[in-house]
Amino acid sequence: MSQRLSTKVSQSIIFKSICLLVLPMTLITCLGTFVYLNRLKTEELNRAFEKNEIHVSNAIKVANSEFKQFENRLVFLAKTSDVQSLDKTIASSYLKSYSIQSLFKYRETISLFDRRDSLICNNFMLGNKEIKYPINFDRITSHQTLKTKWYRDTKEPIKAFATVVEDRASGDGSLVASFSSQRLWDIFTSTQEEKKGFIVAIDGDENIIYHPDLRTWLTSPHKIGELINQEIDPRNFKISNPSPTEWSDGNRYLMSYGYDPAYDIGVFYCQSMEEIEKFLILPKIMGLSFLLFAIFTILLVALWQYKILGKPLAKVIKHITQMTEDKLNVDEIRVKNSKDEIGQLSKAFNELHSTIKRQILELNAHRNLLEQEVKQRTQELELANAKLNKISRTDELTGLPNRRDITETINHEMGRVNRSHKPFCFIFIDIDHFKNINDTYGHSCGDLILKSVAQNIRSQLRKYDVIARYGGEEFLTLLPETDLEGAVVVAERFRQKIQNMSVDYMGCPIQVTITLGVAQYNEKLGAERSIQLADKALYEGKTSGRNKVVAWKPEQDAEKIL
Ligand code: GH3
Ligand code: MG
Ligand code: MG
Repeated sequence: MSQRLSTKVSQSIIFKSICLLVLPMTLITCLGTFVYLNRLKTEELNRAFEKNEIHVSNAIKVANSEFKQFENRLVFLAKTSDVQSLDKTIASSYLKSYSIQSLFKYRETISLFDRRDSLICNNFMLGNKEIKYPINFDRITSHQTLKTKWYRDTKEPIKAFATVVEDRASGDGSLVASFSSQRLWDIFTSTQEEKKGFIVAIDGDENIIYHPDLRTWLTSPHKIGELINQEIDPRNFKISNPSPTEWSDGNRYLMSYGYDPAYDIGVFYCQSMEEIEKFLILPKIMGLSFLLFAIFTILLVALWQYKILGKPLAKVIKHITQMTEDKLNVDEIRVKNSKDEIGQLSKAFNELHSTIKRQILELNAHRNLLEQEVKQRTQELELANAKLNKISRTDELTGLPNRRDITETINHEMGRVNRSHKPFCFIFIDIDHFKNINDTYGHSCGDLILKSVAQNIRSQLRKYDVIARYGGEEFLTLLPETDLEGAVVVAERFRQKIQNMSVDYMGCPIQVTITLGVAQYNEKLGAERSIQLADKALYEGKTSGRNKVVAWKPEQDAEKIL
């Protein structure tokens, strides 16, 4: 019974090994690409963050220098003789002069107060309306300029600077000027144009003092919390990690922050994550392309593996299956690379295949030889058997059938007679005084007489008549399809022929006579008893003088006699 050799895909070692190769490689490649892209993003964020930190510190520096410049101008102004005169007319005309107005061009106010903190004059072109500054005049000293918090009177956020005005005649006065946040707007707006991000400035109380969208965020007071969705302490707030923050406008921004305590200003530099991620598009595409290329290569390797392992192995399995199905005449396995393991396996299998083929051919040849020998031996045995059979049925001396043979012939003839109801007869023959011949001339002479009598009688028979040596010097003749009358005629002819026969034994002519008993086969009595009737008739012949034919008449009471 041949068993089909086949392997399910899920059970295939090659499939499993390819999976073991492809899956980890794909995972590693995906992971690698993911890590690479993530690292790239982190690096880009760090780079942007570092740049933004520089933007913040630059913005603070620029603002700080603007403040200082403003402060120096105020101190310088306080030292001019026109202001120091504390005279309303002189100081007022000086403050309203074009050169001073152009220095405080953002409609910033300059007010001169006497030692009792009463307004002397200001730089207003029309009238001399008093302006309220959120300032404690007691704290104004000659050592340091006093700065107020950021505040609003009518429009944009402002900060007031106050300094001492020394007058030897009437004592110290004070000069107060408002610093408009518009100064910073101009600086920050021009800075922003060159950069990828934008600046948002706040004061120590979280109030926005600059935002590029002036109309929305500066025409009325707003807190930074409204923008960045969180409360902060501007004086201590720090951003140390480059992580994006989601704002109330729904966008994510990378922020850097710095605070200048000297002028109470905090500066944010904000860069949209969209802007940063723009730089990552190309590396992302490259990374994904690499990933696709790597997966494609891995699949190619897997295919190649299947081609060099799976296909040749399937070939080998197919060949072995065909062999198990008794198809020994399949071609040799041919694989491309004959030096690798599969090639060697195929080669070994081909050698095994040819060995099996050769052995089967040899076995077949052996079998044929054996068959022929058996046939020959059988024929010889049959011949020997036939010979033996013949020998066992033939009398050695006379060459006539023996008693056993004629018994079978009689049985056969009986069957025929029973069917055809044709008569047949037995003639029992005995040589007269044969003992005397033996005694007189010797046993070999007796043998010669026996042979001569047998040949003589046989030569007279029809081709379907049978004669057999029945006993020592007794013969039984079977005459098919012959009635008693016919048989008596035949027996008489035998007798005469033998009587006239002379046998030469060592130059001595010897003559013998025979006595014959004839009987017709009687269906009721059967063969054996019919032969006994013939023997009985023979006995009668012997007792009545010998050399005669005696027939057993059917009318004689056979039952009684036998
Ligand atoms: P009868 O006329 O009454 O038949 O007398 P007979 O002497 O023939 O009868 P008997 O039966 O007394 O003798 C038969 C003899 O035949 C005895 C035996 O020695 C001899 N005989 C039997 N078979 C053979 C044989 O094969 N060869 C020879 N030479 N003699 C045989
Ligand atoms: Mg006898
Ligand atoms: Mg005799």
